[in-house]
Amino acid sequence: MIPLRLAHLLIRPALVVLTGWALASGVKAAEEPVLNLYSARHYQTDEALYENFTRQTGIRINRIEAGDEPLLERLRNEGRNSPADVLMLVDAARLWRAQIDGLYAPTRSKLLESRIPAHLRAKDDGQGSAWFAVSTRARIIVYNKARLKAADIAQYEDLAQPRLKGMVCTRSSSHPYMLSFIGAMSEHLGPAAAETWARGVVANFARPPRGGDTDQIKAVATGECGVALTNTYYLVRLMRSNKAEDKEVISRIGFVMPNQASFGTHMNISGAGILANAPHKANALRFLEYLSSDEAQAYLAEGNNEWPVVRSVKVRNPELESLGSFKQDTLPIAQIGRSQIEAAKISDRAGWR
Ligand code: FE
Repeated sequence: MIPLRLAHLLIRPALVVLTGWALASGVKAAEEPVLNLYSARHYQTDEALYENFTRQTGIRINRIEAGDEPLLERLRNEGRNSPADVLMLVDAARLWRAQIDGLYAPTRSKLLESRIPAHLRAKDDGQGSAWFAVSTRARIIVYNKARLKAADIAQYEDLAQPRLKGMVCTRSSSHPYMLSFIGAMSEHLGPAAAETWARGVVANFARPPRGGDTDQIKAVATGECGVALTNTYYLVRLMRSNKAEDKEVISRIGFVMPNQASFGTHMNISGAGILANAPHKANALRFLEYLSSDEAQAYLAEGNNEWPVVRSVKVRNPELESLGSFKQDTLPIAQIGRSQIEAAKISDRAGWR
């Protein structure tokens, strides 16, 4: 019997010849039915999302799930040898960063371009888009009902009004959610006016920035803060909670979809793109296209109480629906991602930690 290792050596030249023939004749060697996904999102409903893809296509998904920063770090370390095919991230600021770091390959797909609105994809560089939104969230204002009325904070600009002195709470301005938001304000108001606004917000702080969005909501409920910013899914998560303390929080707060009379409420996304070094590019494209299907859109949105990017898709989520329909800011997400550089300068100068 030939030892295994020797057998491997013997078989190898035959494979090389076959591949050479396939390339020379223009026949594409089929990819192995595998997809390596690096994802910064993980929710219960994502399991069904991935299982359905495998059932439909026979393509097995290997997942690495971690926070956005650890995933990016891992990709940088793996470099050209990375096995990753698709990278899913949260927030425009991070997607744009990954894009300018050259991690994504521009992708052209008639299906994705017809399903996903242009302002929710990376700018087409002539070869396609680096990433595509898979779900959307809004950044809204929550307020303490005993201290304020909705009319007091109908727009983001109101956060800088002197009448809100000692009432405003935010998370750190260096967090991607804040960079995207302050960047969008700069795009709308212009950098100089945005800086004046930022100084006004800082002058109104109830406390130095700290904690995540849920912490802001809870501090508004206790009255420590009069008003704060949060992504919608954190609010909806509390609305859906059966815990008595969460019900108590919800009973004390109101929310506002800001800027309905002007540019609309700030929107952000979760998004995904094919990696420049992806070993399974064809499978990766099939996966991205699958993510835009009605079925996958419903799973993605439901999993984190977000809205689908494909408008016709309906999500059965009464608490999410209770936020109502509202005017959304249609500033291109790619432009918001890019604006984070200006946003960092503005918050630095304004002393927004
Ligand atoms: Fe989040």
